[in-house]
Amino acid sequence: MDKPSLFTPGPTPVPPQVLAAVGAPVIHHRSLDFQPVYERTLTRLQEVCRTRSDVLLFTASGTGAFESAVANLVSAGEPHLVVSAGNFGERWAQMTAAYGADVDHLRYAWGETPDPEDVRGRLREREAKAVWLVQSETSTGVVADVRAMAAVTREAGALVVVDAVSSLGAVPCETDAWGLDVVVSGSQKALMTPPGLGLAAVSEAALAATGSSPRFYFDWERTRHAQHELDAPFTPPVSLVAGLDVALGMLLEEGLEAVFDRHVRLGRACRAGAKGLGLELFSPDTDRSAVVTAVRAPDGVDSGDVVRGCRERFGVTLANGQGDLKGRIFRIGHIGWFDIFDIITALAAVELVLVDLGAEVERGAAVAGGGAGSAAPPRA
Ligand code: PLP
Repeated sequence: MDKPSLFTPGPTPVPPQVLAAVGAPVIHHRSLDFQPVYERTLTRLQEVCRTRSDVLLFTASGTGAFESAVANLVSAGEPHLVVSAGNFGERWAQMTAAYGADVDHLRYAWGETPDPEDVRGRLREREAKAVWLVQSETSTGVVADVRAMAAVTREAGALVVVDAVSSLGAVPCETDAWGLDVVVSGSQKALMTPPGLGLAAVSEAALAATGSSPRFYFDWERTRHAQHELDAPFTPPVSLVAGLDVALGMLLEEGLEAVFDRHVRLGRACRAGAKGLGLELFSPDTDRSAVVTAVRAPDGVDSGDVVRGCRERFGVTLANGQGDLKGRIFRIGHIGWFDIFDIITALAAVELVLVDLGAEVERGAAVAGGGAGSAAPPRA
């Protein structure tokens, strides 16, 4: 029997209730069957994003929703500041540049944690229309202090745009309370839904600051106007919206604070287990790293072989490193529908495969790690 277990940092496992909703007969998007689902989903998205502003839903992956922010906010020649410390931040620097922005790129080495004081310094040197941030840099496992970076950005009078693709619904992201103008995410991570839906929570200030870049499908005003009428501008993936509705209901029923605490515990369990095996962490050993645990492969072991071994022997899918980290780290995603025993499964597979690969590991550490996560109080 092949029982696959998905531990990639997206897509993530989809609960059966959500799959059932996705698999229900297709309904028409302009019918009375769809409208209540659409309305509830949009309202629930506001609750999960913790905003009173509109959350615009796009048929796209997270990158598409992010491109909506770029297409709506960037005009050629305008100054923008992009903060990067990994693959996704670098993607946004490229994308804003592709739309003609005059990009100031505050670029950290992959794995570093951006410092709000550096953002302040850059904004003193040069003003920016918007500062583009990544909350959870999925390529490294670092979760940045978006709240502090947003505060210095607002002091400088710039808009705050946040990539929360892997973090929304896993760690706190207080759109209104932290003054985030745009928060972008996707369905396939903590929102526990198959890939295909992108979303952008957009403040009034961001809507008032839209620029002159050409856009049509991703035009915020077109989608906003249509959503207010509960009449999507283009055919939405009705089945995914039905699934997202159920998934958001599950998150809200658990309670967002409880969801965040669960992710803190999952991160603790994963780090404790990896360290117990004798492995070195790449992502920071802090409660903030509650989304992805990045682990260095032991000397002489290619992380790609760990990933391959886990999948071939146990049906456990982890992720290799990206860019220069390929072959050097492997990443265990614990975003969304996970509990402590899932972490034990992933770590047990890593342990057995490392033994296969001839690495010296401490046997039995996976279970001990799970214990560390389950016994710990919710938050420090
Ligand atoms: N930003 C972050 C932080 C991500 O983790 C991802 C996907 O892994 C993306 C952006 C891109 O999202 P998508 O693959 O849905 O376009």
